[in-house]
Amino acid sequence: MMVKFPSHVYRFTLLAVLILTLGFRPGWAQAGDNTADVLIVGAGLSGLSSAYYLKKAGKSAVILEMSPHIGGRIGTATYVDNAHAEIGLEEFWESNPAVDIMHELNIPLETFYTSFSSFYYHGKLYPFLHDSNLAFLESVIGAEEMAAYKHWDRKMASLYKQLDSRPLSDEILALKDISFADWMQATSGLSPKALEFVRIETEPEYATSWQQISALDGIAEWHIFSGQGQAPYHVIGGNQRAADAIAGFLGKDTIRLNQLVTHIRSTDSGVEVTATDQGSFQQHVYRARHAIVAVPLFRLNDIQFSPPLSAERQQAIQTQAGGAYFTAHVRLDRQASRFWTHDGESVLPILSDGPLGVIYKGNFENGNDELLNLLVTGAYAERFNSRLSSPEDIQATLLDAFEKQWPGFRQAFRQMTFYRYHPRAIASWPVGRSRYDSLSDSLRQPQGRVYFAGDFTEDTHSNGATHAAIRAVKDILRQD
Ligand SMILES: Cc1cc2nc3c(=O)[nH]c(=O)nc-3n(C[C@H](O)[C@H](O)[C@H](O)COP(=O)(O)OP(=O)(O)OC[C@H]3O[C@@H](n4cnc5c(N)ncnc54)[C@H](O)[C@@H]3O)c2cc1C
Repeated sequence: MMVKFPSHVYRFTLLAVLILTLGFRPGWAQAGDNTADVLIVGAGLSGLSSAYYLKKAGKSAVILEMSPHIGGRIGTATYVDNAHAEIGLEEFWESNPAVDIMHELNIPLETFYTSFSSFYYHGKLYPFLHDSNLAFLESVIGAEEMAAYKHWDRKMASLYKQLDSRPLSDEILALKDISFADWMQATSGLSPKALEFVRIETEPEYATSWQQISALDGIAEWHIFSGQGQAPYHVIGGNQRAADAIAGFLGKDTIRLNQLVTHIRSTDSGVEVTATDQGSFQQHVYRARHAIVAVPLFRLNDIQFSPPLSAERQQAIQTQAGGAYFTAHVRLDRQASRFWTHDGESVLPILSDGPLGVIYKGNFENGNDELLNLLVTGAYAERFNSRLSSPEDIQATLLDAFEKQWPGFRQAFRQMTFYRYHPRAIASWPVGRSRYDSLSDSLRQPQGRVYFAGDFTEDTHSNGATHAAIRAVKDILRQD
């Protein structure tokens, strides 16, 4: 039997069905508390410090992070017996505003060494057992060379100062078209040994060969080592504690994990950001007055922007290269410490100038074992990251290199654990491009109400992540 409803009941039912299917369709969340003054994409150092500065300025922020982890490329691996070592960022350089944030939050820091490190060259170890960068350097290149080195270092410092002025002179900008290596050979006046010293000390910073970056960016990189060099800071207990402390300051509702941002729509009045929960694939919509996108540049292509990213920004993204890092944590019998102990002192970190990369010390609280942390860079990192190498091949390559450097090492070996950051570990600009060119400048300009942060907009180091946050937050406060 068919029941006939009065027409107003029919219209009401149709409306209810529409609300149920459109408004409350599974997969769509109500905007509700998904609103804030600023939405931030990415809970790495740049996103976290953006939210930190906004909170201090009295603005609310919500951070959307695609992974279940807070800190991005900051992460500390811990093992069953409380041993721990860094997977990503190892040291915060002194000039990094993150160091100020950590002081403000009373995060305990340690600094053990100056900016130069012990290194191997032609199979010989040059151990850093000195009180200063310059005393160490003199032990390597000899007193007579020091005058030429100091002259060159002063020239580098004066060129670095010029990078602050805008517009950059044509003469300075032309340095983006020659490799750091070629420019150094042609103009530095340094001896072959001093040149090798500069190469070995700086390459781990940009995680590629000095042939691959421009002289312009080489000048910027050298800033860390210039004069007495900058002090490196590490968080006692692991750098993850810095990310966790900033997150604690922000409050747990500020950070929404597992939210992969897929769409960002910017209008005259605000922004709408759509994210997909990575556990349930439920879509959520968030609204705010502004958005800061603090993700590595190549990740911008995971996001559909409306209006779309300008052609200039697309070109800037496409033509940027990235340095490669691969991390291996190596567990050893405690007897192994004899390999890196000289005159009763540890000479770690050591730059191996080979497949072992930078050899850092991990931490073992029980004192029964030793843990080393290898930060492998450049071509070796690219090879290990490619996954064409089996874990057995990688382990064999690393063990062979250890054995050659430290005969008897194999007897102390227990286990290796690998971590990959792929495809691009850090921002680095190929010859012909520079962080100081107009393409890079275009990335630092807001697009409507969307601001771009993250280390890739500024700097090879995490300094770039925090400087970008300061810039984006300043731009927003100026607009409001
Ligand atoms: C192995 C290694 C060692 C390093 N060592 C040092 C060092 O010693 N000193 C130093 O200064 N720097 C070092 N760096 C560089 C430093 O780690 C970075 O510069 C810094 O951590 C970058 O912070 P960020 O916030 O810009 O980016 P990230 O840390 O990459 O954070 C970006 C975040 O965005 C998230 N995300 C990406 N896309 C989306 C999306 N669509 N939706 C939602 N979330 C998204 C990511 O999951 C990530 O959490 C190292 C890097 C690596 C990999």
